[in-house]
Amino acid sequence: MARFIVGVLASAAFFAMELLTILNRCHHFRGFVYQHARFGPDSRSIEVAVRPRQGSAAVCSGCHQPAPGYDHLPERRFEFIPLWGFVVFFLYRMRRVHCRTCGGVMVEEVPWGDGKHQLTKAYMLFLARWARRLSWKETAEAFRTSWDKVYNAVEYVVTWGLEHRILGPIQAIGVDEIQYAKGHKYLTLVYQIDQQVTRLLWVGQERTIKSFQRFFTLIGTELAAKIEFVCSDMWQPYLKVIQEKCSQALHILDRFHIVAKMNEALDDVRAEEARRMRQEGYQPVLKKSRWLLLKRKHNLTGKQRLRLRDILRYNLKTVRAYLLKEEFQQLWEYDSPTWAGKFLDQWCRQTMRSRIEPMKKIARSLRQHRTLILNYFKAQKHFSSGIIEGLNNKAKVTMRKSYGFRTFRVLELALYHSLGKLPEPQLTHDFF
Ligand SMILES: [Zn+2]
Repeated sequence: MARFIVGVLASAAFFAMELLTILNRCHHFRGFVYQHARFGPDSRSIEVAVRPRQGSAAVCSGCHQPAPGYDHLPERRFEFIPLWGFVVFFLYRMRRVHCRTCGGVMVEEVPWGDGKHQLTKAYMLFLARWARRLSWKETAEAFRTSWDKVYNAVEYVVTWGLEHRILGPIQAIGVDEIQYAKGHKYLTLVYQIDQQVTRLLWVGQERTIKSFQRFFTLIGTELAAKIEFVCSDMWQPYLKVIQEKCSQALHILDRFHIVAKMNEALDDVRAEEARRMRQEGYQPVLKKSRWLLLKRKHNLTGKQRLRLRDILRYNLKTVRAYLLKEEFQQLWEYDSPTWAGKFLDQWCRQTMRSRIEPMKKIARSLRQHRTLILNYFKAQKHFSSGIIEGLNNKAKVTMRKSYGFRTFRVLELALYHSLGKLPEPQLTHDFF
């Protein structure tokens, strides 16, 4: 043990010197010098003392201009990227300046830190980048830090990114909702779905008129007036706000959502009928048929296809609903809005005669939104379900990865962080 300690101490001096060289190489700031490095009292951390370079003036954090010194504050610790399992701290006594521009005594601004953050910018950026690949919890474990620090890091990077991003021009947006908190609450997500740029533009709490209006407040009337396409589902508040704020845009009902609604209806029919057949003592024909009916035919295995063919022989409501759903898929193959419209009308007429209430409900809703559905063809199918569906799947993965505390704020940060394509603060060295 004693020999080990001697060894550690002997190498410590050499190590400290090397560390300063490395720091000067990768994390150097004009106006400041690394004075010395040593192990902390617990031998598990490294402390690097930093001081202002002789004769260099402190910069006011209010106006970012040099200002005459006033006094020093007690020493503060800034956590840097850990090295070989050691926590690294910069120790620095912040100066206060007497700033005429700001009209009083102000704390100086230091290039490695940001405001009251305990972590250095470099470390926050470092953690935030890992938090995009791993879950926040895994990131905290991997770098032996806390979930809260990872949260702070992501919050810093996202806030910086939102302040520095360029919003426009925006050609096309897609709006969608996502459930969280075990399905009891909703987020509204707005994506930019231009051909060149796809990214998350905005996250809002709830899916009300009021919350969605906030997105348009954010981008302002000038950008909103230049949006050419809006893609959404049939949720009334969204339709209303789009009508009000973006009336010049071609509003497209998202294909993915229409198909999803249709599947829900079919599933209701199946569940109801299966229950009734069980009660009345019929053969359980529909048992385990759910996925056979919901999946597209070409996605089924050979065995499943046989099973499906078997079911389709019965004269069941479920079968009729299934055939209607399958027939409806033809709609997407049309190129001309006129012919698509004719097909749609014909399908709705047929469905209204089907005496299958959930399907009739779909037909009524499609009739009501006929124009918006046909806009899909007017936009020459440019904005297919694929884009939004893909983004939404990524959003769901992100939400799972940020687990810990599923508050709105956490989800908002995590979503912007992974889908916002936000700019990041620049460092002079890439620490990865
Ligand atoms: Zn100032």
